[in-house]
Amino acid sequence: MDLSGRVAIVTGSGRGIGRGIAMVLASHGADVVISDINPDTAGKTSEEIRSLGRKSIAAAGDVSKKADVERLVSEALDAFGKVDILVNNAGITRDYLIEKMPEEAWDSVLNVNLKSFYLTIQAVMPVMVKSKFGRVINISSKACWVGNMGQANYNSAKAGALSLTMTAAREFGRYVVKEGCDMTCNAIMPGFIDTEMTQAVPEKVRQIMLSQIPLNRPGTPEDVGNVVLFLASRYGSYVNGAIIPVDGGFWMAM
Ligand code: NAP
Repeated sequence: MDLSGRVAIVTGSGRGIGRGIAMVLASHGADVVISDINPDTAGKTSEEIRSLGRKSIAAAGDVSKKADVERLVSEALDAFGKVDILVNNAGITRDYLIEKMPEEAWDSVLNVNLKSFYLTIQAVMPVMVKSKFGRVINISSKACWVGNMGQANYNSAKAGALSLTMTAAREFGRYVVKEGCDMTCNAIMPGFIDTEMTQAVPEKVRQIMLSQIPLNRPGTPEDVGNVVLFLASRYGSYVNGAIIPVDGGFWMAM
């Protein structure tokens, strides 16, 4: 699965799953734009990618803001001239029971976990159509199918990301048919992946979750990156509108 010559944008890739995805894509030949709200972590991941011999730039910004997304895509085009792969990974949690959830917690989670996906897809679509190749991979979550308590905002955003994926997959199909493009849009549903986001989960809950995973271990960011790699490669060209769990079989506990 050689991605040499491909250019990827991975949002929220300063750390966690996004960083793992960026490293896997780069280690298979892709040049990567590290997009993150934190310029320090973005710069660090970008530096690590350059040390692999790939090209990389760090693009700091808030992907829930249209102006920042437009700047992100324009910085990618200035540096590389195209965008072949977009991985929508940036995400946050602000957990509250519905009764107690402040409006700000609803809005910020929906904005980062869902609105940003629409903004980035809208911004890269004409670029992908022009080069006749595009892969969009949206990171959703198993949480949206099980209605985790205290996560109405997060679950709603992640469910919305699945629906957005299917609509984009159909709309991309028009360019495949009319203009001979090779374009797909798919979603990944990670289960329990070891990152700073899940380190906040209390140990008791962590043990219950692990007991429900047939492979009996949390996933790694690289486990998610390996599936992104397949979808981004030419071997993924007939997978479109799919929702793929990467969770060691955790989905069977739903
Ligand atoms: P994480 O460790 O919290 O990392 C998220 C990254 O996104 C951070 O680098 C963060 O920057 C960045 N970010 C936050 N808001 C942003 C914004 N507005 N614009 C640009 N970047 C932003 O999370 P993770 O565990 O790696 O999760 C990554 C994705 O996978 C999320 O969409 C999450 O919902 C999903 N997911 C995770 C799991 C899991 O088990 N970990 C399971 C299912 C789905 P800062 O460093 O400044 O915060």
